[in-house]
Amino acid sequence: MDTVDAIVIGAGVVGLAVARELALAGREVIVAEAESTFGTGISARHSEVIHAGIYYPPGSLKAKLCVEGKALLYDYCERRRIPHKRLGKLIVAVERTERSRLEELAERAAANGVADLQWLTGAEARALEPELVCDSALLSPSTGILDSHALMQSLVADLEAAGGAVAYDNRVTSISRGPGVFEVAINGAPEPCLATPLVINAAGLEAADVLASIEGFPRSDVPKMYFCKGNYFTLSGKSPFSRLIYPMPAAGGLGTHVTLDLAGRARLGPDTEWLDAPCYDVSEDRAEAFRTAVARYFPKVRDRNLVPAYAGVRPKLAAPGETDRDFVISRQDENGGARLISLLGIESPGLTASLAIGTKVALLDD
Ligand SMILES: Cc1cc2nc3c(=O)[nH]c(=O)nc-3n(C[C@H](O)[C@H](O)[C@H](O)COP(=O)(O)OP(=O)(O)OC[C@H]3O[C@@H](n4cnc5c(N)ncnc54)[C@H](O)[C@@H]3O)c2cc1C
Repeated sequence: MDTVDAIVIGAGVVGLAVARELALAGREVIVAEAESTFGTGISARHSEVIHAGIYYPPGSLKAKLCVEGKALLYDYCERRRIPHKRLGKLIVAVERTERSRLEELAERAAANGVADLQWLTGAEARALEPELVCDSALLSPSTGILDSHALMQSLVADLEAAGGAVAYDNRVTSISRGPGVFEVAINGAPEPCLATPLVINAAGLEAADVLASIEGFPRSDVPKMYFCKGNYFTLSGKSPFSRLIYPMPAAGGLGTHVTLDLAGRARLGPDTEWLDAPCYDVSEDRAEAFRTAVARYFPKVRDRNLVPAYAGVRPKLAAPGETDRDFVISRQDENGGARLISLLGIESPGLTASLAIGTKVALLDD
């Protein structure tokens, strides 16, 4: 059986960022990926927004890693010429009664180190975005969008240049324990094929299943994962906005917002739909609820066609109705020196935070 310094399970943006960081630190790293290419899981189905770090509780990993990750990501995108745009975003109080929530968000952002938010009156917001209807707004100039596929391609290139590799079509199906190592079996094989002192579980929606597949891992320590789908619709015609437009956050998500892709097309979503298991169908029946949600701040959405686009699934550690949980990034040491680092509940802003998560995991294993 071959031995490597580290095995990362999952070639999404987070697993790739972690693997790259470990490889740059001189470790021999293999990423085991179940699918035939990288980034087909959560990392293929999101808004591609570089978040500023506004919403998350001060002191949380989400807040800290989002703010750190944003700076790392803009720098990396610029150096590697990864397509991105610092478009800015408006968070809108549609009615005067929502102003206090906007004030709370501004305070939270300041506590998180986001110091560039600007208050706008309704008239000032409309001067920037004439189709917008609101009482007041917060402008976040450091919010942007990026080409996440190009980002992942670049992370794979860095990993390979540093001597690492991604092993595609290799699903980790069981992990047993050897002296000072974990032994990893692939694609249902009865015998393990690779040994390593360090396993990083970055399996996204399946991260809890990976924990359950580790020999002797206490069942009581495997968290229950809840799945919250976010559906998207494309807005027909020219985009009415040149910035991203967000209403007040709603339970489980950030409110049904308008984002733009790098080609300038407008997209509505994601909403929140709780599921028992991941599923990616977008039902046309949801279009009316999208129209109603978005019409509050963009009334002319009623004149536009909404075309079902795609859906992503959030890996939630909190059940519907419970307060959102923070990212879990934890290290467990086994007798004999083997280490397991688990990344659980890496929902939004996981893309923004990915490079900072890579740095954190590398430090955790120092
Ligand atoms: C609707 C939605 C919108 C979002 N919008 C944003 C946004 O705008 N900005 C932002 O910063 N974040 C956003 N996010 C969050 C971001 O997309 C995720 O945090 C990030 O993509 C998670 O990446 P990951 O690598 O952890 O998971 P994934 O991309 O899912 O990668 C996990 C990988 O593990 C593989 N795998 C699973 N089990 C095994 C196994 N046993 N063996 C081998 N491989 C395995 C899977 O095939 C998959 O490729 C959004 C998320 C959602 C759902």
